[in-house]
Amino acid sequence: MARKLSFEKGGDFIAETRREVELYLAPRRIRLRGRLQLYAKTVVAFAIWAASWATLILIRPGLLLGLGGLVAGTILIGFCVQHDANHGAYFRTRRFNHLMGWTADAMLGISSYAWRVKHNVAHHTYTNVDGYDDDVTQTPFVRLVPTQTPRPWYRLQHLYVWPLYSLMVIRWQIGADITALIRGRIANSTLRMPRGWDLAGLVTGKALFIGWAVVAPLLFYPWWVVAIGYVGFTMITSLVTATTFQLAHCVEEAEFASAEQLAAVKKPWAVHEVETTVDFCPRNPLLTWVLGGLNYQIEHHLFPRVAHTHYPRIAEIVKRNAVKHGIRYTAQPSLRAALGSHQRHLRTLGRMGIPADIEMG
Ligand SMILES: [Zn+2]
Repeated sequence: MARKLSFEKGGDFIAETRREVELYLAPRRIRLRGRLQLYAKTVVAFAIWAASWATLILIRPGLLLGLGGLVAGTILIGFCVQHDANHGAYFRTRRFNHLMGWTADAMLGISSYAWRVKHNVAHHTYTNVDGYDDDVTQTPFVRLVPTQTPRPWYRLQHLYVWPLYSLMVIRWQIGADITALIRGRIANSTLRMPRGWDLAGLVTGKALFIGWAVVAPLLFYPWWVVAIGYVGFTMITSLVTATTFQLAHCVEEAEFASAEQLAAVKKPWAVHEVETTVDFCPRNPLLTWVLGGLNYQIEHHLFPRVAHTHYPRIAEIVKRNAVKHGIRYTAQPSLRAALGSHQRHLRTLGRMGIPADIEMG
């Protein structure tokens, strides 16, 4: 079994930043405003989702129109509701957060129980660490970290990665989460079999998802229309989800590490998070609203239990303190710049370490 990784705790940067963020969040009206914005967005997300699904089933205006709304509602639920809730940022109590986070099971078809280990533990604790962060440990399909072994086919990864991104959610819906539960781990993090309410949530969530996404549509449409609709809907939401997460971590400006490198250079955890993460489009309020603040992933990684509606203000504090303490803080000015950087990262890692004869052949 691989070694247990640990980071230095504390440090001046996070101590000062946390103090300032706590000061900003101290007035009750600020916290209340953030919560209300989050809850209002939840209402919009569910309304778009429910109206689109009901229209698809009852009015049947054509797949394109109905699926467009369903994709928009699902993306909002994924980014702005389940993500906050599964981090414990939505309500004060764990039970209610888990209940709201269960929207991942029922609406997205993926186990929120497994997600909390994949995302909150593996990704958020060991960001961009080869073998520990499941999001960047996808060999032998793609090479995202420089320490991963080069393979000839990675030379084309900047092209074939996009269809792979669009299949990520389907993989989880049809059982990658269950396989991880049986294996007992995600990357290097332990994943225990769910029991009691967790198990009930997993089973009823899968059943509900299959019910609304497959069984109910089959009562109104031929099977092949349902198949095309389901695969199309899932591929688009998957592509948007995977790309959003990758733009924050798998870009030229982000740091990567192996377990050995981390052990050699003991770093405070907060510094590691800022250096392995990149913000994008900080001045785009529409994108910030739709992505649930995931374009402010530096702030999200430092304060995952704070509602995402506060991130733009928190970013000012984090940036100022990062500059003060000499920590590299990167924010891509546009979506185009972020996508370009991701594409160049994939190309560079695809080519790096390939012997010359393969390069020429
Ligand atoms: Zn997160």
